[in-house]
Amino acid sequence: MTGVCVGFPGLINHKDGNVIKSSQLVWEDVPLLRILEEQLAFSVLIDNELNLRAYAEGFLPKIKHHSMAVIGFGSGVGSALMIGDQIHKGYLNSAGEIGHTIVDTNGILCTCGNFGCLQTYIAESFLVQEASKKSNAQSLHKIISATEKGYKWAENILSRAITYASITVNSCVCMYNPERVILTGEMIEQFLHVRDRILQESRNKIWSPLSDSTSIEVSQLGEKGVVLGASMYSQREYINHLSTEKGWFNRITPISGFQKSRNRIVGGMMF
Ligand SMILES: [Zn+2]
Repeated sequence: MTGVCVGFPGLINHKDGNVIKSSQLVWEDVPLLRILEEQLAFSVLIDNELNLRAYAEGFLPKIKHHSMAVIGFGSGVGSALMIGDQIHKGYLNSAGEIGHTIVDTNGILCTCGNFGCLQTYIAESFLVQEASKKSNAQSLHKIISATEKGYKWAENILSRAITYASITVNSCVCMYNPERVILTGEMIEQFLHVRDRILQESRNKIWSPLSDSTSIEVSQLGEKGVVLGASMYSQREYINHLSTEKGWFNRITPISGFQKSRNRIVGGMMF
């Protein structure tokens, strides 16, 4: 048996593998599982990429924990909550979409149609949109370069994003009371001084009764995190599916993975 597991940035109906919505890829109601199974002739699993990363973050370091929240800052803002060895998926597999919590009803128009969603203050496309009022910076990298050259507008945009990122961490801690918080995403992994500022401001902002008992960490898995999580998830599902069959263990070989299109679609394979 060969299977493919795909980590996808967006809302996935985990019962039928349909993409409900992906703001990053501007997809809506796409039967992705059916399309991939027809094209690949493999069994396919699909889940939100942050959910899959949480599997890898939770299992690979072999750290025993009660609960863990993974928060991603990049093209969007999202989170995944792991309690024990289970991902909390919610009724429609959309738990953790913290980027669309509303923080300012008079704020910027979000891709979802609401004003003032949290991600409009942190996600790269919105920062670029804000920067366009003062420059032609087309990426987070360009905005950060402008901060290093002393441009006030750039520092204001970045400082606000860091503040909202730290507010996100505090919100997750207040809502879920996780033992560990793992930060990931392009903003964390590609810009180390931004990462350090987010870490410091997050630790300062955490609700004081929980500040000593909550560990805030940075992902050590980098871009491989989703691939590894996809591989682990697919093996786990395979084992769950076949655990009553004799000899299933001998058919599993070590993890392999592939990655495509700048971490937008990633997957793990199992043979
Ligand atoms: Zn929104």
